[in-house]
Amino acid sequence: MPWWKRAAIVAAVLVVLSFAIWRGAVWVRELPPEQSPFRSLDLERPVGWATAMQFDRIRSDPPACAAALDASRIVVTPIEDRREGADGQCGFSNAVTLDESHYPYSGAVRATCPLTAALYVWEREVVAPAAAQWLESPVVRIEMIGTYVCRNIYGRAEGRLSEHANANAIDIAGFRLENGRVIRILGGWTGDEADAAFLRAVRDGGCDVFRGVLSPDYNAAHADHLHLDMGPYRLCR
Ligand SMILES: [Zn+2]
Repeated sequence: MPWWKRAAIVAAVLVVLSFAIWRGAVWVRELPPEQSPFRSLDLERPVGWATAMQFDRIRSDPPACAAALDASRIVVTPIEDRREGADGQCGFSNAVTLDESHYPYSGAVRATCPLTAALYVWEREVVAPAAAQWLESPVVRIEMIGTYVCRNIYGRAEGRLSEHANANAIDIAGFRLENGRVIRILGGWTGDEADAAFLRAVRDGGCDVFRGVLSPDYNAAHADHLHLDMGPYRLCR
């Protein structure tokens, strides 16, 4: 093959490659933010396949997490970092109190920034549509057990520290509806078909937002609540 033919082939390949790279870049840039792992988390967007990756990034980037809360309509108050317990093993940093979200809670929510951000998205993208699909009345309040408490998992004397000890977990006992009815995990999980379907939908959808989601399906210790956390382990059961 003469040199000029080879050069022409190389040039043609380069042109095609450059075009493909340019098209790819345009395609990635035009993706909705929730479908692009390169974009930062926008709490007002729907949940997409890249949302979990974006949440993973704010877990290790406190300024990015604070910016995500700031850019959304959630109302929070930052609280001072704290260490406590015999060896300072408990406490929290980059935590906030949740002042106003899509739903009020039955108690004060004091939690890490990533957990608060995840709750805000879960309420709107998971709880509200699940209620619309399965229940006769919208949710008006989330019944909670607690967030921050200095203890090991299951309250054992020995063992791994619970995510609650870092204000990085919340336990949800049920949902109060506009018509006054309260759907509790205890009873509701194995009760009325629609209530059970609603509770499973909020658990399953939670797995796209939180890192750890534990329900009565996990063990007897979770028979009366959903445990939602932003800890290091991905667990959905
Ligand atoms: Zn818990």
